[in-house]
Amino acid sequence: MKNRFICPKCRSDLKIGDHIIFSTQTERGLRGVLLISPELGNYTIIHDDKFNFMEGEHVDFSCPLCHENLSIEDIDKDLAEVIMIDEKNEEYKIIFSEIAGKRCTMKIKDDKIIESFGEDADGFTNYWGSGPKY
Ligand SMILES: [Zn+2]
Repeated sequence: MKNRFICPKCRSDLKIGDHIIFSTQTERGLRGVLLISPELGNYTIIHDDKFNFMEGEHVDFSCPLCHENLSIEDIDKDLAEVIMIDEKNEEYKIIFSEIAGKRCTMKIKDDKIIESFGEDADGFTNYWGSGPKY
């Protein structure tokens, strides 16, 4: 997988090896680092055992380098975004849910959904129209 994942604010690379790295904070103020698979639709998350969040809890995602919050509050406070650059140097927005346990990822270009992943993605298609589902 050669796709790059970068911060939309400072454009630093967030993918190291086979993981995208985020610094996060739960509603209860617990902080931790999350490692997420760069494979869209793969919801495997790696974190320290001491950093645990509850199903359904909102988890704030921020860039580990510039510390900017990645939420897209103007659209939905429970969604966050990163930029993916593929092998052809095409840039996409990757929008994902900040609710623990909610499986929803959307790949967006020019404000249209190109692909969506996860069984909870349907609830968000009203923002960008629906695209092919995987
Ligand atoms: Zn950043």
